[in-house]
Amino acid sequence: MKNPEKNKSKNKGDAIVELKHLTWEDIEELPKEKTIFFLPISPMEEHGPHLPVGTDFLTAEDTAKAAIQKIRQKDHSIHCILLPSVPLGYCEFSTDFPGSFSVSSHTIKEVVYSFGSSLATHGFKYLVVCTYHMALGHLKGIYAAMQKLRKKYHMHVCEPWAPIFYSQEISKAEPKLGFETNKELHAGFRETSLMKYQYPYLVSPKYQNLLPCHKDLDSPRIVFQKLKDLGVTQGYIGNPSKADATYGRWFFNFTVDTYVSATFSLLNNEKPRPLPKDTKNKIRLLFWQ
Ligand SMILES: [Zn+2]
Repeated sequence: MKNPEKNKSKNKGDAIVELKHLTWEDIEELPKEKTIFFLPISPMEEHGPHLPVGTDFLTAEDTAKAAIQKIRQKDHSIHCILLPSVPLGYCEFSTDFPGSFSVSSHTIKEVVYSFGSSLATHGFKYLVVCTYHMALGHLKGIYAAMQKLRKKYHMHVCEPWAPIFYSQEISKAEPKLGFETNKELHAGFRETSLMKYQYPYLVSPKYQNLLPCHKDLDSPRIVFQKLKDLGVTQGYIGNPSKADATYGRWFFNFTVDTYVSATFSLLNNEKPRPLPKDTKNKIRLLFWQ
């Protein structure tokens, strides 16, 4: 790097501060009570024939960045540090398509715990885990890691999106559409809309001709099955053809606002919003794999 000073001064403005650009001294100097770390983590996973495999990964990273900007606008004294995005997740379910890379729930637990414990060892207290991948096996790893960080280090850590996603709050809050969105589970209307808003050039126009594909993923029969076993031949569950960038913008901002309010309540040392009871029970019953 030719002029490190110049690069550093960039970070003093409104640019997002990324951990990978800091020295250990920069990190040591951060005020422990006023610094919060954001960890985007979502796998590469197939998202139908029309969306990139990085859909969840890009969304986790982009919503984290937008949330950091909003938090800084509201309170300049808070130091938000973006950790490098981790391209990992448990997504065994969709590995019968190329482009899905699944690691075990154990690995997810280890990764999240390792980031948190390294920070806690150096006196940091606040961590927001940003994931857009909502598979229960993935959340099992994240929630176990968070529990361990709270227990061992009294760290204030939260994952803001799953409690909202699993409480049906999106359909309550979303603009009226004239059709149900609850069954838009994977690469359907919601995610295709989101990508049309964020990355229109990455959405294949073939989404317009895809027929609706609805499956009940709550059924106990699906344990250990993969998408193709369930008749999901093209890798999406929902109705992508209805996708709309205006809805995508609403959905993106709704996710960002969820992160912003969760961050402020974490900094106020409030208890993070828990997962709904039935989701928690399902996660508990899942085997570690
Ligand atoms: Zn997704």
